[in-house]
Amino acid sequence: MDNKINVRGLNFDNLTVDEAVGSMIKNVHSGKQISVFTPNPEIVQMCIDDNAMYDVIGRGDMILPDGIGVVKASKILGTPLKGRTPGYDCGEELIKRSGKEGLKIFFLGGKPGIAETAAEKMTEKYPDAVFVGCHDGYFKKEGEESEAVVRLINESGANVLFVCLGAPAQEKWINANRSALTDVMLMLGLGGSLDGYSGNVKRAPKLFIKLNLEWFYRLLCQPSRIGRMMKLPKFYFGTWRYKIKNKK
Ligand code: UDP
Repeated sequence: MDNKINVRGLNFDNLTVDEAVGSMIKNVHSGKQISVFTPNPEIVQMCIDDNAMYDVIGRGDMILPDGIGVVKASKILGTPLKGRTPGYDCGEELIKRSGKEGLKIFFLGGKPGIAETAAEKMTEKYPDAVFVGCHDGYFKKEGEESEAVVRLINESGANVLFVCLGAPAQEKWINANRSALTDVMLMLGLGGSLDGYSGNVKRAPKLFIKLNLEWFYRLLCQPSRIGRMMKLPKFYFGTWRYKIKNKK
């Protein structure tokens, strides 16, 4: 995939949600297996703090900027991305188009029952959506339990897999298991998306999304995220420092 923009060491695809989803569907049809990761600033900062993470997150075939912070950083660095392409939105667009495009979706992740509720709610919203299986995300990520999950996915006939185990567990799991997932052509790391689709966690009101303050809404709802969110200013100011240091 061309048209990549490097932001702090990760090569992001410079696409709109529509273009990204179109490209994903094309890949499913062409029978080429791809992984899609959607790092937010917190994950990029995780890579900066622990360089071994670049090899985990950077291995995604398609890397999409989930948070506005990544887009802002691309602007600071003088190589602007078109905009953010939230994993949540890309996932919903795939669900919406699944009936017409022959996508067979499997939901993996979340607490027990969440994936099933998410599939029910999404079927109510998009009656021709195609779901072929679900499994919660609380299994051992290596060894027998993980192998049983892989078997279940293969037996379901899914060609699209939503992996919602939180980062970086989901990216590590995808990297480790992609070759065993024989029929899955598209696997996406989508964090807490199933919590949103199921209605278990409310998405920010439209105004917050429009003002790029979705992160702030999530913080209000889950104040325990404050520790994780301290990575955001670190990423932002670090990007300025990086720019100044690398100016010729
Ligand atoms: N989760 C899971 N298995 C685990 C740990 C977490 O399925 O072993 C799920 C958790 O229930 C939640 C999601 O992973 O639905 C992580 O959500 P979070 O909002 O933290 O992810 P983000 O979108 O911020 O990466």
